[in-house]
Amino acid sequence: MTAMTSSTTADPPATTTDAYPSPPSPPSEEDRFLKMVSTETSYKRLFMDVSPYSVTDIEWRVLLQRLLDNIEDGQQKRNGKFEGRSISQGMDSPREDRRTVVVLGTGWSAHAFVKLASTYDLRIVVVSPVNHFVFTPMLASAAVGTVEYRSMTEPIRVTNPHIDNFVEGRAIGVDVAARKVQVQLTPMSTVTGAFRGLASEAPCRLDPEPVQTEIVYGPDGIVVRDASKGAGDVIELSYDHLICAVGTASRSSIVRGAKEHCFNLKTSQDSKRLRTAIGEALEYASRPNVQEYYYPEGPMREFAREERRRRLRIAVIGGGPTGVELCGELSDFFRQVCGSPDGAYQHLRDDVLITLVHGGSDLLPAMDRELRRKALSALRSQGVEVRLNTRLNEVGRDYIKIKDKGVGVEETIPLAITIWAAGNAPVPFVRELLSQLPEEAKGSGGRINVDRWLRCPTPTPETFGSILVLGDVMCLEKQNKYDVTPEPLPQTAQVAGQQGAFLARMLNRGYDLSRTPPALPEETSDSASNYSLLRAWLVARGLEEAPGFDFLSLGLLAYVGQEEALNQVMLGDVPLFNYSGKIAFALWRTVYLTKQASTRNQALIAFDWLRTEAFGRDITRL
Ligand SMILES: Cc1cc2nc3c(=O)[nH]c(=O)nc-3n(C[C@H](O)[C@H](O)[C@H](O)COP(=O)(O)OP(=O)(O)OC[C@H]3O[C@@H](n4cnc5c(N)ncnc54)[C@H](O)[C@@H]3O)c2cc1C
Repeated sequence: MTAMTSSTTADPPATTTDAYPSPPSPPSEEDRFLKMVSTETSYKRLFMDVSPYSVTDIEWRVLLQRLLDNIEDGQQKRNGKFEGRSISQGMDSPREDRRTVVVLGTGWSAHAFVKLASTYDLRIVVVSPVNHFVFTPMLASAAVGTVEYRSMTEPIRVTNPHIDNFVEGRAIGVDVAARKVQVQLTPMSTVTGAFRGLASEAPCRLDPEPVQTEIVYGPDGIVVRDASKGAGDVIELSYDHLICAVGTASRSSIVRGAKEHCFNLKTSQDSKRLRTAIGEALEYASRPNVQEYYYPEGPMREFAREERRRRLRIAVIGGGPTGVELCGELSDFFRQVCGSPDGAYQHLRDDVLITLVHGGSDLLPAMDRELRRKALSALRSQGVEVRLNTRLNEVGRDYIKIKDKGVGVEETIPLAITIWAAGNAPVPFVRELLSQLPEEAKGSGGRINVDRWLRCPTPTPETFGSILVLGDVMCLEKQNKYDVTPEPLPQTAQVAGQQGAFLARMLNRGYDLSRTPPALPEETSDSASNYSLLRAWLVARGLEEAPGFDFLSLGLLAYVGQEEALNQVMLGDVPLFNYSGKIAFALWRTVYLTKQASTRNQALIAFDWLRTEAFGRDITRL
């Protein structure tokens, strides 16, 4: 199998990686078994006291509190959600003095919050540009059709029928003192042309029309839209608590050309775009005028081959979990559609090449050394070209420029698809919010500093506790007794989900968030009977004052392709088991399936996996 040639600014080493090398000879029965149960023995070390950790290092207190929290959650869901009846249907009535909570976002942290928050005590309005929750760990699978988009998205109104309203729009400004947030509603022209009488030419949401926003303040201070620019209306929402769970955007703007030319993988739209682009590349590379046979002997033949290969070379930037899993999925996809004898694009078998560009010396830096090594060998054995210690200097429409940190020579790689999986930046609203907060609110990487109750600093004591920040956008140092220099909590779905649930409990319990630590209010004679019960339960648990947020890590999972995965199972800071291979893959799938919010999605995903196994991935270009 031949590889892509790279044009360079100074003689780079020729790339010799085969895209799909011939499979190695089959492993013996013993090897196969060892691979299946491939596991580190950290659990033995742990329990035999020969590891730096011991069973006493497990945070038993946190575990016990989590268990009791779960019991409380179950009860709270029954009391606070009107047992399946929607408030808007007038079937039941919430308390009259409910606090208004505006939740920005429908991602991991917002979704976890809304699922648990009591609509008896809280009037909940959710604002987000998308009306669904996306199971982000499956975006890579959706980009190549292993699962369908609709199987891993949950409409927020369906999973949370009790919220007071969902507003499709984007927060663009906030008045911290007046407790108001400004929301630009999604312009209808990007949703459907029917609103403009152009249904047949309606732009698809994949290509929203560019909108110029200009906010104009009316004489009475109310924000009105500048209709001349076609922007969506802007409305103001008042809140008692604003929950900022807006996540992050790609940090691609740090590299020249990356913002314009890189595909992202953050939303279901991103994964749809990528799938479209891959399908397009395969069809383009199959055209007669990019085949050697189309031209007589001469340089055009070489040109046709180069052009075909350029279209089928894909660069993934970033060797963290997203980049590694995406390479695994891409590799599975191309092996199926190009590499197998009955693949629809088997004529392109020798032309595909996936390159993973990573700035560090190890893939998956958050994982144990042994698993990092396995990730590298797994990808390389599948023909993925992994460039470690390599910096991305520039991205163009049909090339990238990279530089090996050791060799120091810049190399230009001609290609058509570059995917950014390397780091996050704040969304514009966060900059707007930070501009109103005191200096100490500015956290690392443009994030917002919070205390252990997820409150950010505010300009006045009166507004303290009114803005709560969760998930990827918050910055809170990890409580870790082993860390010499504590680091911020990682930007993961695990942290985001646990914080959403933590905050819902804190608000359900009625803690006074203006105090530090937040404490239960005085009990009054008219307190509802279910509140008295909750209060007694909290007092019995010693929780008259709110405990701070404790992150309980359960470990890390990563898919590396060919039905193999890496699992690092942990309890807090204590590593329990490391697995890799097929068993790890089974655990990876089990976790992803059980983590789905609805039985509907569990069924759809299980079906998608079966369909992929039996019939392959769908390559229809819609
Ligand atoms: C491809 C991929 C794979 C991943 N895999 C894993 C994994 O395996 N395990 C893991 O733990 N983590 C994983 N993560 C990380 C995880 O998805 C994030 O840490 C998590 O989504 C953070 O949750 P969040 O609620 O802070 O933000 P998000 O889930 O990003 O949600 C942000 C929400 O805010 C909305 N929003 C944005 N701007 C505004 C605005 N101005 N106003 C209102 N709403 C707004 C967005 O539309 C979105 O609904 C992965 C991430 C990606 C991209």
